Amino acid sequence: MLDFVHETAPTRVVFGAGRVADLPAEADRLGLARLLLLSTPGQRARVEALAAPLGARIAGLFAEAVMHVPAETAAAARAEASRIAADGCVAVGGGSTVGLAKAIALETGLPIIAVPTTYAGSEMTPIWGLTEGGEKTTGRDARVLPRTVIYDPALTLDLPSRIAGASGMNALAHCVEALYAADASPIIKLIAEEGVRALAAALPAVVTNPGEIEARARALYGAWLAGTALGAASMALHHKLCHALGGSFSLPHAETHTIVLPHAAAYNRDAAPEAMRRIADALGADEAPGGLFDLARAVGAPAGLAEIGLRETDLDRAAEIATRNPYDNPRRVTRDGVRALLEDAFHGRRPAIG
Ligand code: NAD
Repeated sequence: MLDFVHETAPTRVVFGAGRVADLPAEADRLGLARLLLLSTPGQRARVEALAAPLGARIAGLFAEAVMHVPAETAAAARAEASRIAADGCVAVGGGSTVGLAKAIALETGLPIIAVPTTYAGSEMTPIWGLTEGGEKTTGRDARVLPRTVIYDPALTLDLPSRIAGASGMNALAHCVEALYAADASPIIKLIAEEGVRALAAALPAVVTNPGEIEARARALYGAWLAGTALGAASMALHHKLCHALGGSFSLPHAETHTIVLPHAAAYNRDAAPEAMRRIADALGADEAPGGLFDLARAVGAPAGLAEIGLRETDLDRAAEIATRNPYDNPRRVTRDGVRALLEDAFHGRRPAIG
């Protein structure tokens, strides 16, 4: 029976190749005149060049964004925003850079214009994350949701295939878990299904033909949908597992998602048949877990957790950490079940046909 709550997020989205040129107009639309630009150290020069048309609206640049938003980096960025009397932030980059802007907004309420250059999807969510003493804390707060997002596929043309493939599979994971989330509205499920369809069609082309702007645009469109789904639905076993593996064993974020996703889908297969049918249809595959595994291989992702640095002796502890707090998941989460899932993911086995 239909029974749901749906809330539409207020983010303005501007999409298209070359649209980064709209930055000054979008800043004016929000009435922002003293912007703090944010980037990773590696993207600094590019971000300076892209933002140059903002002219006198640029009050400063903080190019120290790193993965998982360390609390000290967030504190330094907030201090810089305060020192230059910033009235807003422009984050150009992936989830790490958008995450830093969110850490500033969480305490100061400064509005964010996000210009994503990966497929992580953080720009469409009210989810923030901060890492202190090796522990990552996350939460939801409407203040961190970017006010405007400019998706410019031309900015993703230089995203290396290795990062693009894994980042796209990370986005796909948001769609997969939204499709079986108890709190996802019918609209969010449509968005998630279309996200799977767009990403599955685009990612192999992005990896094999990196210069093709149409495939890049389709992948970025899928990433937008995936981020929207992530922002509106609760994530389950898959995200919990990846969080545990990333946080406790320092495994790379997007690659971990890519490897674990087919196995998390296999774990939930019998408990979420409708979601599995929709995922399989959108993938153009016979069944969801195998289709996700084949797509991950097609984008050149590592097959098993062993390849990205997990040790076999870590599996017991990983299963214990990932099952520590009970949480919603279509199939009941048991330590033995998750241990078996991790064993398959460790060795990179193709999930058996259900
Ligand atoms: P990232 O932002 O760390 O980027 C990875 C690397 O790619 C960086 O060195 C970056 O400088 C570089 N890069 C980015 N765009 C590029 C481009 N177009 N060309 C060349 N190099 C480029 O990685 P990510 O996967 O985008 O984000 C991961 C982080 O985001 C994690 O910390 C994750 O927890 C977080 N995240 C948060 C949310 C949320 O809703 N809060 C959602 C998804 C991910």
